[in-house]
Amino acid sequence: CGIVGIIGVEPVAGRLVDALKRLEYRGYDSAGVATLEEGEIARRRAPGKLANLAGRLADEPLSGRIGIGHTRWATHGAPTEQNAHPHATARVAVVHNGIIENFRDLLADLARDGYQPQTQTDTESVALWATRELDNGADPELAVSRTLKQLRGAFALAFLFKGEEALLIGARRGAPLAIGHGKDEMYLGSDAMALAPFTSRLTYLQDGDWAVVTAEGVTIRDAHDAVVARDMQVSQASA
Ligand code: GLU
Repeated sequence: CGIVGIIGVEPVAGRLVDALKRLEYRGYDSAGVATLEEGEIARRRAPGKLANLAGRLADEPLSGRIGIGHTRWATHGAPTEQNAHPHATARVAVVHNGIIENFRDLLADLARDGYQPQTQTDTESVALWATRELDNGADPELAVSRTLKQLRGAFALAFLFKGEEALLIGARRGAPLAIGHGKDEMYLGSDAMALAPFTSRLTYLQDGDWAVVTAEGVTIRDAHDAVVARDMQVSQASA
C-alpha cells in the first residue's frame, strides 16, 4: 500500500522504516524491506505493525546503502510473512501497490520454463517475469521494460537488482509514485509525505511512466519507452 526506495550514502534500512511509518495512514497489514548486502538481495519482513519489522531488523540488522520498502494491504494471499513484500529471487526484489490482474496467466507461462512461485501473491509474477528476462540476458532496464509490457491492472512498482548498488527502477500505472532528489542521494516514494524527511524536491511520474533512478539522477520514460521530461516540484509536505 506504500512504497519507498533509497539510493543512499549511508545504511538505509532504518530510514526505509521511518519513511514507511509516514505512510501508515494509508493502512497496512504487513511490511518489509530489501537491501543489497555485499551485492546480494537480503530481506526482512513481518506481519502486523511496523514495530514488528523494526524488531526483525534489530535482531538481524541490514547495512546496505540501497534498498526498497513496503507496507502491504493484501489483495491476493493472506497477510503472512511469506506473502509480505518485497518479493524476490536471487536477481531482483520488487515492491508493489495495486493489483496485477493477469498474474495467473503470467505464472502459467513462467511455470512452463520452470519458474515457480513461493507465495500466494499477484506481485510475485512480476519478480519472476523480470527474473526470466534477466536470466535470458536482458539488462535491468530492458528486463523491466519487457516486464511492464506484460502487466494488466493498476499499480506502482519499485525494483532492486542484485549487484546494482546505485540503481532502482520505479513504474507508475494507476497508482502514484514520486522520485525524490537529494543532495548525494535519490529516493522513490508513494507520496511527498513519505519523502519529506529526506527531500522536498520531487518529480511525480505521470501515468504509464517508468523511471531509472541512479545516484546521479533519474531518466523517465513513458509507456512507449520514449524518454520524457517531467518537471521537478518543491513539495510543501512537512518533515
Ligand atoms: N496486490 C498486492 C498484494 O496483495 C499488493 C497490495 C498492496 O497494494 O499493498 O500483495
